Amino acid sequence: MDLIAELPKGNRRALARAITLVESTRAQDRDAASELMAQLPHDRQALRIGLSGTPGVGKSTFIESFGLHLTAQGLRVAVLAVDPSSARSGGSILGDKTRMEQLSRDPNAFIRPSQSQTQLGGVARRTREVVRLCEAAGFDVVLIETVGVGQSETMVADISDVFALLMAPAGGDELQGVKRGIMEIADLVIVNKADGDLKAAATRTCADYAGALRLLRKRSGDPVGFPKASMVSALTAHGLDEVWADIKALRDFRQQSGFWQTRRQDQDQRWFDQELHFGLLELLHSDPKSARIVEEAREAIHQGTRTPVRAAAQILASFRKT
Ligand code: GDP
Repeated sequence: MDLIAELPKGNRRALARAITLVESTRAQDRDAASELMAQLPHDRQALRIGLSGTPGVGKSTFIESFGLHLTAQGLRVAVLAVDPSSARSGGSILGDKTRMEQLSRDPNAFIRPSQSQTQLGGVARRTREVVRLCEAAGFDVVLIETVGVGQSETMVADISDVFALLMAPAGGDELQGVKRGIMEIADLVIVNKADGDLKAAATRTCADYAGALRLLRKRSGDPVGFPKASMVSALTAHGLDEVWADIKALRDFRQQSGFWQTRRQDQDQRWFDQELHFGLLELLHSDPKSARIVEEAREAIHQGTRTPVRAAAQILASFRKT
């Protein structure tokens, strides 16, 4: 299949194949992937939405109903999962598409399970490429989902234009233990499950987050009222239109203020830095001689006969000579 011809037509099979190609770690696939990436049309931009939340908060339910909300408007939606734990569990959070049964059957949606984390630099490196592929295939919205553990939120925020944090209603009137750093990168805090018995708790929790967000400094380039807390029921689809309106308002304002473009340019610079960083490490590890020296250095550090700094300096010096 001629991927570069088929992708821009929105051919989903071509997209799936292209993703498999960029996720491949085989050297010849990497070359082909790099060539493909270079040929992608640059005139298409999707709205990239990052979504994070702890397990059970309702991410898949939300993505299913939010995705359907968007496809009903004629928008094409791609869903990608970034699963930092996939290396450990060997599975993937989207492994079974039954999590988003209706959306996965929607011809205007494309759901891609999370890839296994076999590469240096983890899933972030390839996810960026996958996002670009989805854009080239004409998707209007790319939703990038991650479980809220470790560094994955920061990484997803760094790939997306708008970052949303999904929260559950809290029992008391205390804020849940959300790390301040995450609150700082969130554009939207969405309290889910605002229905039935949980409605009152959701209302209280939403007000708490709104209060906490007001204490954060407004980002220059963002409209008044953001970052914003709102509430939805993914189950009943209540509040989804407001979330979509918020995201569009943010996009429009940022595009006019120039923040949008700057953010993407900065992201590209970091993408380049990471490619270079991990590419160099890969070079080091793939050369048998260097790999052996690295192993020896590890052993010496373990034995206490060399300091980590000296060991690294020696390897870098020998690498420079080769
Ligand atoms: P995830 O682990 O974050 O993907 O969460 P799921 O989407 O699998 O949802 C976890 C549980 O919360 C399931 O039992 C859902 O039915 C329930 N749930 C999700 N969204 C809502 C909602 O809006 N209201 C209520 N009451 N339950 C919800």
